[in-house]
Amino acid sequence: MLVVMKPGAPAEAVQAVEGKLRGVNLEINLIKGAVQQVFALVGDTSKLDLGMIESNRHVEKILRVQQPFKVASRTFHPEDTIIEIGGCKIGGGNKAVIAGPCSVESEEQMIEIAQAVKGMGAAMLRGGAYKPRSSPYSFQGMGEEGLRILAKAREASGLPFVTEAMCVESFDLIETYADMIQIGARNMQNFALLKRAGKSAKPILLKRGMSATLEEFLMAAEYILAGGNGKVILCERGIRTFDTYTRNTLDVSLIPAVKELSHLPIIVDPSHASGKWSMVEPLAKAAMAVGADGLIVEVHQQPELALCDGSQSLKPKKFGQLMTAVQKIIAAV
Ligand code: PEP
Ligand code: MN
Repeated sequence: MLVVMKPGAPAEAVQAVEGKLRGVNLEINLIKGAVQQVFALVGDTSKLDLGMIESNRHVEKILRVQQPFKVASRTFHPEDTIIEIGGCKIGGGNKAVIAGPCSVESEEQMIEIAQAVKGMGAAMLRGGAYKPRSSPYSFQGMGEEGLRILAKAREASGLPFVTEAMCVESFDLIETYADMIQIGARNMQNFALLKRAGKSAKPILLKRGMSATLEEFLMAAEYILAGGNGKVILCERGIRTFDTYTRNTLDVSLIPAVKELSHLPIIVDPSHASGKWSMVEPLAKAAMAVGADGLIVEVHQQPELALCDGSQSLKPKKFGQLMTAVQKIIAAV
């Protein structure tokens, strides 16, 4: 990291800044240029309070050489991380498709859909028991009964399942049932929840916040990793843009960017990214073409009757077609 002093910064100001830098265990080199002085810092700068240093009126700017995320960074962990969830591997060349309804609605629905998607090649099941809904009047999920149903569907199909935890209070309960716990887009910066996930032994599926930058996304993952849980799978699920035709805009560029910067696996959710069932397959193909480690897709027997997200849900037959198309892309890539 470089701390650049303003031209003509008085000696006292330079000393004051140096005093702040000395508080942390760093190698400090002061470079005296003809016009400006620059501190070159070597070591772990993550504990430095940059705001405090930048607030000195004689400091011109701070230039970071390294990314602020450490454990999530490929610099410190060059090889791809592979996450195993009940026999299903994701990352390091292992691709997996997770499928199921937005919400658990009944036991019959879940068991039928689990068996159907398994037959078409899905490696994991999804289903929300606790749903983050924009309206308090919308279906909020079946709660613990939904978790019990998911466990039955796992038993019937052999597929491990992922389900969302919306708050710290319900995390313990969800953790006892789920094979992987989802932190949804709306909670990507719920730091208390991220810290709780960091203490879990279960893998975490971390979805990108709807207006989160790549750095914010990886810093959210860093919370979980720094807490001691190394099993994090990232998920790009579309971001808010000016366009309203689709529910969100799939940021395909995030996938190769994550691959450059991080060792963590990244999957794509083409259902929430588009909000339209007709666009799910094309986006799924795009995701796999740019190197995603997998997909999470909403599938419902009767989307027109779904209690949540029917417009973006595929019928099982269409999901089968998506799987065939995606296999071809994977083979081609
Ligand atoms: C979901 O997966 O059902 C969901 C609510 O996703 P997101 O957090 O990406 O909106
Ligand atoms: Mn949904």
